[in-house]
Order: sequence, then structure tokens, then C-alpha cells
Amino acid sequence: MKPSDAGQPEPRLPPPPPQPPPPAQEPVHAPSGAAAVFRIAVPTSFAMGATNAYLIPGPEPVLVDPGVRTPEALRALEAGLAAYGTSIKAMRGVIVTHGHLDHFGLARAVRNRSGARVYAHRYDARVCEGFPDSVRKANVRYREFSLRLGFPPELYGRMETAYARTFEMAEGVPVDVELSDGDLVPAGGREWRVLHTPGHTPGSICLLNEELGLLLSGDTVLRDITPNPFFGGHSHNSSMGLGAYLQSLGRLEGLGQVKTLPGHGPVVEDLPGVLASTRRHHAEREGRILALLRAEGPLDAFQVSGRIFAELPVSQVWLAFAEVVGHLEVMEAAGTVVRTGGGGQGGEAGAASGAGTAGGTSPGEAVRFAAAG
Ligand SMILES: [Zn+2]
Ligand SMILES: [Zn+2]
Repeated sequence: MKPSDAGQPEPRLPPPPPQPPPPAQEPVHAPSGAAAVFRIAVPTSFAMGATNAYLIPGPEPVLVDPGVRTPEALRALEAGLAAYGTSIKAMRGVIVTHGHLDHFGLARAVRNRSGARVYAHRYDARVCEGFPDSVRKANVRYREFSLRLGFPPELYGRMETAYARTFEMAEGVPVDVELSDGDLVPAGGREWRVLHTPGHTPGSICLLNEELGLLLSGDTVLRDITPNPFFGGHSHNSSMGLGAYLQSLGRLEGLGQVKTLPGHGPVVEDLPGVLASTRRHHAEREGRILALLRAEGPLDAFQVSGRIFAELPVSQVWLAFAEVVGHLEVMEAAGTVVRTGGGGQGGEAGAASGAGTAGGTSPGEAVRFAAAG
């Protein structure tokens, strides 16, 4: 099959950013009834809407994920904190759940005003500290990786141009405390345990306080959106991280029923239910991809993405592609899919290393995938 036969829709330019909903604030009650954490919706211009910043009040008040760096976001954060009788200046800590700019964008502004210590997992700390150069450098590798798997260079260039405007939406921030799994972070007079849950990013964390029965989940668990794995499993960015993400879900499944405060959207009252539906979503998508490859394979990942997803705005074409690559990697590791083409890079090599397509691919020839057997 020629790439021109793939039938992928011509992507459109992104629509104007939707108006963010009005800032919303709410106390989040622990199962005991105490208002333990306060949610502040910090607007973004991104499709997923506002980021949730969380204030953990108490003797050492801490802000989790202050949000994106725009004047509107800063105003919403200030207003939210004022509504709870505090201010940016009073913060003693800023915890960043992962190195995405809609979460850490304002961390430096908060640190500058308050002297708060900034906490982030060590795998994402470099991204936050070196922003935006850290992201620019990573993008060179993402581009290479994506093109090798069939993403069209011209489309990638357009996406990069569209993305470049977001570099204004965060500042690099020194990370004062680098976190690892199991660390205890003081916040509001209690200690919160760090759960390293890689997948969405390499250094994604959740924060658990068992006494309160609350979990802060960043983007690892969202109620109404399936989180996207972004090169999340490995710091060397040679695979998409869905496999690591599914392992992280397994870890959270072990927590049972715990009230979960996500990075976007409403509080999750039924964590096991949301995790189960995320797993179902992935299993169904794998089934569709396998059926497609049986019927029409071998195909490259971009071709698969064009068949699985309906017409998407350009800003979302890469996200859809990334999800498909993640599935193909997981299926390859499970032995249901093999690599073919792409300059003779055998399926065995990729599957055995679990590390994607490191080396050996001829320029211009995308790796393709076929159903095994
Ligand atoms: Zn994120
Ligand atoms: Zn996010």
C-alpha cells in the first residue's frame, strides 16, 4: 500500500481556542468530612480546559500544580487563594505533579513571590528547570522518532509552529527538592507520600495521604479524558510509554477506593471505576488496531492513526498518532504485532528491547506493523 492510499483526512488548522469556563473553586472534603484541600480551576487556552491547582492549607500551605503562565491564570490563582483566605506569598511549597507547562507554568512566579520550595520528581525536574530549551531539545528527538514511524514531516513542522506559541506559557523554575517514589512531602501539617506513576511523563507522580483518604493524581488519572502517554516510560524517549502507564494503573488499582483529585476536570469519586474504564478503552482500541492490521496491514503508525480516528484538528493529529504508537508498542511486546519494513529493522529486535526503533531504519522509509501469525 502506498502512503497516498492511507485515506488519512487532510487535517485542518486548529480552531480558535475555546473560551475558558469561569474560574471555579471548591473545597474538597476528605471522607471524614473535613475540608482538607481546596481546588482552584486555573484557565488555559488548551482543548482540555482549566488545570486544577490544589491548595493544601495548614501551617505550611502548599500549592499543587499552580497552572499555566498567563495573566488570566495568575488572576484566577490569586482570586482562588484569596477566596480561601490566603495568598501566593503565604505558600511554603509548590509540588509539580509532572513536567507539563499547564501544571508548572506559574511555579517560578509563586516561588519568586513566596520563597516556597519547589518539589518535582527527579525525572521531570530537568524539564521544569531547563524550560523552554529542555523541551526544544526533546522535540528534536520526538520529531525523529515520529518521522521514523510515519508521521509526515510537513505536518510535524506545522504542529511545531503551532506549539511554539506555548513557550510563553511557562518559565523555567529551579526544583529545590527532587522527589523519588516513597518520599514523604510535608504539606499543610501532614505528610503526603509520593507514588511514582510514569507513563503520561517519565516523572509523573501521585500524592497520597492515607489518613485523609485523598489522592492527588496529576494527569495520571482524569475522569472524563483518557490521559495521553507522551514518551512517558523512559527518560531516553525511545518509546511512547503506554506500557509504563498501564503498569502505573495497576499500582493505583491496588489502592482500592480513594477519593482522587485530578489535574483536570472534576473530582473522581470512583477511582477503581475510572481505572477500569481506562483499561477498557485501551483494550478496545487495541482490538480495533489488530483487526485493521489483519485486514489491511502492514501499515505504518500514521496510517493506522488515520483509519482509527476521524478527522482531527492539526493540534490533535499528533496526539492520536502518539496513542496509536503506544498501542503498537504494547502489542508488539505482547507478541500480537510485529514490525516490518523500515529499512529491514526486524520485529524481533524492537520487541525484545521494548525500546522502539532505535537505529537501523532507512531514511524516508517508515516502520510498518503487521498482525503476528
Ligand atoms: Zn500533562
Ligand atoms: Zn495537564
